[in-house]
Amino acid sequence: MPIRCITFDLDDTLWDCMPVIRRAEQTFHMWLSVHYPRIAERYDHDAMVAHRKAWFARFPELHHDLTTLRKRWLALIARESGYDETLVEPAFRVFWEARNRVALYDDVTVTLERLRPRYRLGAITNGNADVHRIGIGHHFDFVVTAARVGVAKPHPEIFTAALDEAGTAAHETLHVGDDPVRDVAGAAAVGLRTLWVNPRADITPKGCTPDGVLCSVGEVVEWVESRDAG
Ligand SMILES: [Mg+2]
Repeated sequence: MPIRCITFDLDDTLWDCMPVIRRAEQTFHMWLSVHYPRIAERYDHDAMVAHRKAWFARFPELHHDLTTLRKRWLALIARESGYDETLVEPAFRVFWEARNRVALYDDVTVTLERLRPRYRLGAITNGNADVHRIGIGHHFDFVVTAARVGVAKPHPEIFTAALDEAGTAAHETLHVGDDPVRDVAGAAAVGLRTLWVNPRADITPKGCTPDGVLCSVGEVVEWVESRDAG
């Protein structure tokens, strides 16, 4: 059966996520030090990141919705330092805008442009990156977020939501992602074909049986073409 739809994970598949989040946390802390100095005095940058991570870890039931989680944490750190919750929206915006200033891997744009005429293209993400804000939204027919579906990858429901958006059957749909569990095992459990983007040549964990392993998304075009030709 031919592939009719290709879905992509975002963070660490289309760009390197860690430096983006690190810079966004720095930008956010600098903004706080100007606008809400009592918070920045209470927590230096590293203490603030540690506090946020520890607080997030207490709410696993909200890990599919990092926007809500961050806003609740922002309300908490505002109250702690005697500010009111009018901080929450602008503070979130500062982080979110910086979080969407990503550097796409070199081959991402050309790959999406080459696939676009022949396949329905989708994005499936657990995070709060925004393809439209990033400037690649026009390549995608649909975007499925964990926040909207209410569960995160590898939960089957996020993949079935993507199939509903695509209007394709699982076996006609190929998911491409960097995470062997959330992306590969999760999508495969619903019957999607899978490509694992594994640039560091990590050892394949148990339960991860991708249809192909790539060094980068740039190899997706060749993989689907050779498969369709075969
Ligand atoms: Mg990822």
